[in-house]
Amino acid sequence: TKWQATILTLFPDMFPGPLGHSLAGKSLNEGIWGLKTLDIRDFARDKHRTVDDTPLGGGLGMVLKPDVVDAALQAVAATAGPRIYLSPRGKMLDQAMVRDLAAQPGAVFLCGRYEGVDQRVIDAHAMQEVSIGDYILSGGEVAALTVIDAVVRLLPGVMGKAEGHHDESFETGLLEHSHFTQPRVWNGIEAPEILGSGHHRRIAEWRLAEAKKETQTRRPDLWKRYLELQSKSSKE
Ligand code: SAM
Repeated sequence: TKWQATILTLFPDMFPGPLGHSLAGKSLNEGIWGLKTLDIRDFARDKHRTVDDTPLGGGLGMVLKPDVVDAALQAVAATAGPRIYLSPRGKMLDQAMVRDLAAQPGAVFLCGRYEGVDQRVIDAHAMQEVSIGDYILSGGEVAALTVIDAVVRLLPGVMGKAEGHHDESFETGLLEHSHFTQPRVWNGIEAPEILGSGHHRRIAEWRLAEAKKETQTRRPDLWKRYLELQSKSSKE
């Protein structure tokens, strides 16, 4: 019952890359999640192994061919989970989407290159389009790595209690409070005194107040949504 990531890419050597390290790498070795890459080029039919062609209607760049991408998707038809096309036009990734993905048996990720993928094959496979932010990457691989990293750390058994994610930014609707460690005074700068008090309730109150203050100043958009949710749940 491991969470299975299946990746369709022109650059299979980019995986597991950073996901081969630390918690993600350890849990991959332990079989908590699995990773399979397919080289899109293996599904090209001509002797030059062509995967792309010029855009219909003209313009610069190249577009991944629908027949080649379709053949790659057909090859993983039996794999459970959503089909995700990483795309700057997709729905923006957030922690709620990450949680939903972690609850699936896995996912198939299609990594675009060049100008992208012929839209007909995206539509024919009813793929979910997911963006990791409003900027343009050179390919979908780094985006897929990002999504998988966020999912894997939520899988049961990946993180110990010590690295738990209950209070983390976005889990509570707030950004997390600031963190401090020893020494209590560093370069003449004191860490907040309350944190050394051992008074757990007051520390929790301080952290919540800090989380609220930081969310309000750094992310007014999140703060507004937080207040809306609070007023809704207090009316219920
Ligand atoms: N011509 C496309 C556009 O303007 O929307 C951009 C293509 S981009 C150079 C090549 C590939 O990188 C895309 O097909 C997609 O798979 C991936 N990509 C680029 N930016 C991304 C983002 N913000 N989120 C997810 N994938 C992205």
